[in-house]
Amino acid sequence: MAATETVLKPDFGAKRRHFIFTDEHEQLRESIRGFVTKEFAPHAEEWEITTFPDEVFPKLAKQGFLGLDKPESYGGEGGDYFTALVMGEEMVHANSGGLTMGVAVHTDMAMPPILAFGTEEQKQEWVVPAIKGEKILCLGITEPDAGSDVAGIKTRAVKDGDDYIINGSKTYITNGHRADVIVLVTKTDPEAGYDGFTLFLVPMDAPGVIREKKLEKLGMHASDTALLAFQDVRVPDTAVLGQVGKGFYHIMWELQGERLIGAAGCVAGAQKVFEKTLQYAQDRTAFGRQIGKFQVIRHKFAEMATKIESARQMVYTTAWRHNNGEYPVREISMAKLHAARVAVEVADECIQIHGGAGYMREYGVERVWRDMRLNRIGAGTDEIMLDVIGRSYGL
Ligand SMILES: Cc1cc2nc3c(=O)[nH]c(=O)nc-3n(C[C@H](O)[C@H](O)[C@H](O)COP(=O)(O)OP(=O)(O)OC[C@H]3O[C@@H](n4cnc5c(N)ncnc54)[C@H](O)[C@@H]3O)c2cc1C
Repeated sequence: MAATETVLKPDFGAKRRHFIFTDEHEQLRESIRGFVTKEFAPHAEEWEITTFPDEVFPKLAKQGFLGLDKPESYGGEGGDYFTALVMGEEMVHANSGGLTMGVAVHTDMAMPPILAFGTEEQKQEWVVPAIKGEKILCLGITEPDAGSDVAGIKTRAVKDGDDYIINGSKTYITNGHRADVIVLVTKTDPEAGYDGFTLFLVPMDAPGVIREKKLEKLGMHASDTALLAFQDVRVPDTAVLGQVGKGFYHIMWELQGERLIGAAGCVAGAQKVFEKTLQYAQDRTAFGRQIGKFQVIRHKFAEMATKIESARQMVYTTAWRHNNGEYPVREISMAKLHAARVAVEVADECIQIHGGAGYMREYGVERVWRDMRLNRIGAGTDEIMLDVIGRSYGL
């Protein structure tokens, strides 16, 4: 063998998929990417003004995308957790953070607790049509006076014969204007501490449910965000989701899946804006050369790529543990914290590399920053993630 044949050279173009993914996952990835690029991305700008239409749900359902990791017995595809992760990543190609969020609230935030804790009747009534895209779901935790402090919520459900009467309000509720049902967190026994919470499935057309106003936001304009009021809303006790008094624990469980899928979306969003900016740095010239050839700019890309890769590895490894039946709350919190920070830092740096163009709406980079900024707040703020991680060490 000639000496030159033993020389190992770096192959930066080599693409070996991560070990958690199979050929089937990669085919699914291709098909989601192709579908959302063709069907949704052309409307992304329009939906920033109008919000996305409800018909995206049946369209996604027809492809099987609303139930990828949900049981076949309820109309899902019966896939593993990684199929949901692939969906969380590939939705980014719709170019609409608001759409991605609205769909994720439906599939990964409101649906899992119904599947995990619901009765057979509740699953038939809400999950089956939700997977078909015929019913839209939302999740109500946050209130005007309590967000991070979930235990501080005031919405009350009081037993009245075989019914419950609900009073209170919820705010910042994604899909709140379009949803058919809300997974609602209430207090049933204010004296019982963490054992005094109960979840309910409240139809949004029940008398006393008031969709007060559409809230104006910094980003995620394609999603609808509602302030909701509940005034003497009467529901039968069959509307209780899970165990009476165990709602706090049920919702803390739900938040873990929500955070991990959100983290996957952050990584994918960061990767997409990175690639767009890489192209820009190769096309744009200043002082007689491509701006990407300035060492300062090259190092910005190196920093961004390293951050994105570290976040991706955290998400994949944590997803692998989750898929294997673990409940890795510390690592999910770390992945959510890190991926959200990375996404915002990368989007910010991409604006900088675009110069004035980065500040212009037509380039779409500023929108990525505005949309991504939510991830450091929603589903648990950076500070709350840090606290969960810190407390996990017994502090
Ligand atoms: C666009 C959007 C969509 C949303 N969608 C939904 C939805 O569909 N359903 C839903 O229920 N909620 C939703 N939320 C609410 C979101 O989850 C909350 O905004 C978030 O949990 C923070 O709560 P808060 O806004 O009340 O902030 P607060 O809890 O008031 O926090 C204010 C500040 O204090 C800090 N802080 C609070 N407690 C501590 C602490 N113990 N230690 C250190 N710092 C602390 C926070 O980190 C933050 O910096 C959405 C929010 C937005 C903006």
